[in-house]
Amino acid sequence: MRASNPEMTRFSGHQFTNRVVYPMAGMMVIMIIVVIGVLVASAHQQNRLSVEGSTRLATTALQVKAREVGRNLRDYTIRPDVYEHLHDGIDLGWAVTEGNVGANIHNDLGYELVFVVAPGDKTIYALIDGVPTRADAFDVMPRGLRDLLHVAAIQPHPTTSLIKSGKDIYVVAANGIVPPSIDRARINPRELTMLVFAKRLDQKFLDDMGHDYLLNDLSIALNSENAKDAFIPLMTQNRVYLGTISWSAPRPGDQLLNFVIPPLAIALLILAAFSALVVRNARISSSALEASASRVTHLAHHDALTGLPNRILFREHLDSALSPTVLGSAEVAVICLDLDSFKEVNDSLGHAAGDQLLQQVSQRLQACVSYNDTVARLGGDEFAVIQIGANQPHDAEELSRRLIESIRSAFVVEDQTLHIGVSIGIALADATDRTADTLLKNADIALYRAKQGGRATYRIFEAQMDAELQERRALEYDLRQAVLRNELELHYQPLIDLELHAVAAVEALVRWRHPRRGLVSPSDFIPMAEETGLIVAIGEWVLETACREALKWDRLRIAVNLSPVQFKNHELVETVRQVLQRTGLEPERLELEVTESILINDTAAALEILNGLKALGVKIAMDDFGTGYSSLGYLNSFPFDKIKIDRSFIGDLSDTEKSGAIVKSVIGLGQSLKMVTTAEGVETSEQAAFLREQGCDQVQGFYFSKPVGAAELSAFISSWNARSILEKMHTDAAA
Ligand code: C2E
Ligand code: MG
Ligand code: MG
Repeated sequence: MRASNPEMTRFSGHQFTNRVVYPMAGMMVIMIIVVIGVLVASAHQQNRLSVEGSTRLATTALQVKAREVGRNLRDYTIRPDVYEHLHDGIDLGWAVTEGNVGANIHNDLGYELVFVVAPGDKTIYALIDGVPTRADAFDVMPRGLRDLLHVAAIQPHPTTSLIKSGKDIYVVAANGIVPPSIDRARINPRELTMLVFAKRLDQKFLDDMGHDYLLNDLSIALNSENAKDAFIPLMTQNRVYLGTISWSAPRPGDQLLNFVIPPLAIALLILAAFSALVVRNARISSSALEASASRVTHLAHHDALTGLPNRILFREHLDSALSPTVLGSAEVAVICLDLDSFKEVNDSLGHAAGDQLLQQVSQRLQACVSYNDTVARLGGDEFAVIQIGANQPHDAEELSRRLIESIRSAFVVEDQTLHIGVSIGIALADATDRTADTLLKNADIALYRAKQGGRATYRIFEAQMDAELQERRALEYDLRQAVLRNELELHYQPLIDLELHAVAAVEALVRWRHPRRGLVSPSDFIPMAEETGLIVAIGEWVLETACREALKWDRLRIAVNLSPVQFKNHELVETVRQVLQRTGLEPERLELEVTESILINDTAAALEILNGLKALGVKIAMDDFGTGYSSLGYLNSFPFDKIKIDRSFIGDLSDTEKSGAIVKSVIGLGQSLKMVTTAEGVETSEQAAFLREQGCDQVQGFYFSKPVGAAELSAFISSWNARSILEKMHTDAAA
C-alpha cells in the first residue's frame, strides 16, 4: 500500500537553515566586517591626520629655527661696529679678545660654526664650537655653502639653507655685512663680506624642537630607510637630499583601536554566542514544529481508528493514478466497499466493539491488496480500494471476490464470534471519463446495486445503472412530496368468511396517485419508503385513514399492513393506541398484518412490541405465511390470531400437488393452534371450493374483489350481503 505523499509543503529544518540561519549569519558577518572596517579606516584616517599634523609642525619648527638663525645673524650684519671690524680684513682683537664675535656666539646663541667670508670666497675668520680656527669655510662645508653665499649676496635679508658638514647637517644662514648707514644698492654683491652662522641639527637641537612642538623621539637619519613613520626630508636650497628628520607621531587611531577592540571583541563574542543560542533554539523549535506539522499532516491524511489513508489522501492517490503520465497501459479501478450488517453489530455490541471490528476489517482488506493498491477508509463502514491492474475488469473482479471471501470468515470481537459481509461496487476508468469524481460516483452506484442484489456480492458499474439511480432519486423525491401533498390513497379488499359467506374484514392497501405516473403499486414504492424511513409517516397515515374509514362499515374488521421497519420503533404501540383513541375504533376491529421477517433480527424486541399491541386488544395476523423463514417456533412463542397463507401457494394449487399439501397442512396447523386461516390470492371458484373443503376460514382474492376505493367497497359489501341472503334463501328452499 502506498505511503502518504512526501512532497508536503512544509517548512523543513533544512529550509529553515537556508532561509533564516544562513542569511542571518551572513548579515551578522557583513555587519561585523563593516563595523571593523569603519573602525580601522577611521583609525587609519586619524593616524594619517596625526602624521600630517605633526609633519606640518616639524616643518614649521625647522622654518622657525631657520628664521631664528637668520634673525640672530641679521642682528650682527647690520651692526656698524661689525662692519667696521670685519669688513676689509678681520680685527681679531675686537672679535675674539673683546668677545664681540667670539665664543659668546657659541655659548650664548648656540651656533657651532661662524664664518666670515670676504669677497673672492676667502674665509677670513672661522669659529668652530666657539673656538677661532684657521679653517676654510668651504673645506668645512664643501657642498652647498658656496651656492648659499652667492644667493645670499644678492639678498638684503639673510638666506638660509641646510648644508651638510661631515656627517652633520646644519641650518646655515648667510648675510652680507652691511650697516643701515650704507646704501646697499650701491655695493657690488661680489664686494660684500659675508657672515655665516650655522646651527648643527644635533640631538639637543632635536630634543628642544621636540619639547617645543610636542614631537616625540625626533632623530636624524642620513638615509630614509631608518626613518620612523613620520618624517620630513632635509634638502638643501637646491633640493639636494641630505637626510631625514623622523619622529614617532602620535597614533590616535591605534589608541582608538586599542581602546575599542577589546570591548568590541567581547561584545562580538557575546553576540556570536547569543546568536548561536538563538539559532540553536530556533532550530530545535523548528524541528519540533516540523515534527508536529508532519504529525498533523499524517492525521489530516489518515483515519485515526484504522491508520488507513482517509478520503483526502485517497483522492490524492486517485488523482495521481489517473494522471496520464503515471501509468502506462495499466488501468485504474475504484472499488467501493460497504459492510453488511455493521450497524447491527454497532447497535447491539456497542461502539467499542464496532471500532475493533473496523480495525480487523481494515487489516484483512490490506492483506488482500497488492503493494501498488491503496486501501482507504472513507468513513463509517465504507472503505475503498484503488486497484492498478493490467487486465481489467478481470483483476478487479478477482480482488473483489477475495475481499468478499476474506470478510465472510468469522470475526472475534470481545469474545464474541461475528459474521458480517461486504458489498462491493466497481468502477473502471475508461478513456473517455477519467475523473476521480465520476469514478467514485460510479463505484458508489454499483455498490448500491450490489446491496440491492442481496449483499455480499459485487457489481461492476454500467451506464444504465446511473439512469436507474437518477430515476430512483427522482421517485424518492416525489415520494417525500407525496406524503405532504396527500397523493396517497387507500384501496380496500374484502376478506370473505367461507362458513358465514359474509364479508368478514377488509384489508387496507395503500396506493400512490402520482401526478405523472398514475397509480403506483405499493410494491414499487414501499421498499423505497422502508429504506428512506418514510414508511413510518406513511404507515401512520394508513393506520389512521383505515381506522377512520372502517367506522363506516358496520362491525367489519379492518386489516392494516405493518412494515418491519415500523417494528424497529418502540413508539409503534403508542402510535396504534393513539390512533385508536383518536378515531374511536374498537381495538378488536383492527387487525395488524405483520410478516415473519420482523422476528428474524431481534426476536425479543419484536415479541415485546407484539405483546404490547396485543394488550391494546387488537388482532395480529401473520401475513404471507410460507414465504419467509417460517419457523413454526414463532407461532408457538406468540399467539397470532390469524395466519394468511401466501398467494403463491394458492396460485399453484391447480398446478402442483405439493402446494395443495402445504395449504392443507397450514390450515390444519391453524386449526390446531386455534388461529384463523386466510388464503390470499384466490382467483378461481375451484380454489375457493378447495379451500372451503379443507376448512379454511377466510379467503381473499380477485375472484371476490380486487382492492377498490372506499365507495366501491361499500357498494360491494351491500351487494354481497344481498346476494348471500338470496343464496341462503335458495339453499333453505332446496333443503
Ligand atoms: P399483502 O399485504 O400480501 O397484500 C395483498 C396483495 O395481494 C395486494 O397487493 C393485493 O392486491 C394482492 N392480491 C389480492 N388478491 C389477489 C389475487 O387474487 N391475485 C393477485 N395476483 N394478487 C392479489 P398490493 O396491493 O399490490 O400490495 C402489495 C403488498 O404491499 C402488500 O402485500 C403489502 O405487503 C404491501 N402493502 C400494501 N399496502 C401497505 C401498507 O399500507 N403498509 C405496508 N407496510 N405495506 C403495504
Ligand atoms: Mg397484507
Ligand atoms: Mg399477503
